[in-house]
Amino acid sequence: MIANRYPEKELDSSNIAILNGILIAMNLRKKEMDISISVNLPSFTIGPDAYDDIKKYAGFAGEKVAIIGGQTALEKALPRLKPAIQAAGLTITAIEWYGGEASYSNIDHLAALNQVQAADMIFAVGGGRAIDTGKTVSAKLEKPVFTFPTIASNCAPTSAVCVLYNDDHESAGSYRLHAPAVHSFSDSTIIAEAPEQYIWAGIGDAISKEMEVSFSAEGRELAYNNTIGVHIVQGANQRVLKNGLAALEAAKAHQESPAIDNILFEILGTTSYTSVLVDHDYNGHFAHSFYYGVTVLPQGERHLHGEIVSYGVLIVLQLAKKYDELKEIRDFMISVGLPTSLKALEIESDEDLKTVLDKAFTLDHIQTSPFEINRQMVEEAIRKVEKLNHSFDAL
Ligand SMILES: [Zn+2]
Repeated sequence: MIANRYPEKELDSSNIAILNGILIAMNLRKKEMDISISVNLPSFTIGPDAYDDIKKYAGFAGEKVAIIGGQTALEKALPRLKPAIQAAGLTITAIEWYGGEASYSNIDHLAALNQVQAADMIFAVGGGRAIDTGKTVSAKLEKPVFTFPTIASNCAPTSAVCVLYNDDHESAGSYRLHAPAVHSFSDSTIIAEAPEQYIWAGIGDAISKEMEVSFSAEGRELAYNNTIGVHIVQGANQRVLKNGLAALEAAKAHQESPAIDNILFEILGTTSYTSVLVDHDYNGHFAHSFYYGVTVLPQGERHLHGEIVSYGVLIVLQLAKKYDELKEIRDFMISVGLPTSLKALEIESDEDLKTVLDKAFTLDHIQTSPFEINRQMVEEAIRKVEKLNHSFDAL
């Protein structure tokens, strides 16, 4: 019953790539033919007592749980998660480290473990990479997955997309599940205890969604799911701008706070709603292509996804000629210390920028734009975004 929500075919490294191709082909086909549209919105519990709801929302899936998570995440979450699992009447068959990367080899390894296969459901615990590993393992094993974010750096816990990497940490594209995790449990006390850089990066990623989706969809006739996806994210950035600084200060003080919950609603709620609603073509734009580009550089590993994406948002706003929003978002980014220059991302040579753009242009995000965007236009947009720093410095 539950298994029907997950891919029927065995997933491995090669057929994940094939499935990605099929999904893109299906999206194209959807435009040409009248085919069914399925909508599976994220479900979540956010708050200091989120784990108390495990029985309510995961109890139906069986009795046995395999936990897959990050090392620090497991250390932080297990003291609260284990008693909560016990109180829910569930038993744990496995507690496994995800392997340090959301890679095909770690996914294949985890899915082959008897103790993971013996479980009725997967609990994915940690940050984006641990959670995306758990999500992909669940798809491979056709088991329901529940997520337990311990940091708030991106929407992986509630999105259907899994961002995958090679073993050498270079981005290997994404794989989209049929549906997001069945339910996500965000204990905001644990999230407040994490280093503040994660919610900081989460804010950086969150501000990309409204900009990228709106720009991709501009001037297009949209199917129902795309229309709703574009609408639902409007206004998200105003709320992020309103709560961002307070959330970051609470995270610095490791204090659970309504501002953190308000940011979590945007990261795990609004942006994920959009992400699961819209077709792949509308789900991202050049801010995310730019991120994938930066992952090719060694310094890419020293910067978080949302941190890199936020700089890319400035490029998108420049391309879109949305100068008021560019100023507003950029001022906010300065106030919270998100990068407004390539230098802040350690991209200082023309050669490095060329490497980033070479990779970025292998992605298809910009193909869905209100007008044709070529490399020269992107280079020009970057030059203009960089120039803002020089005039700022000169003041
Ligand atoms: Zn992102």
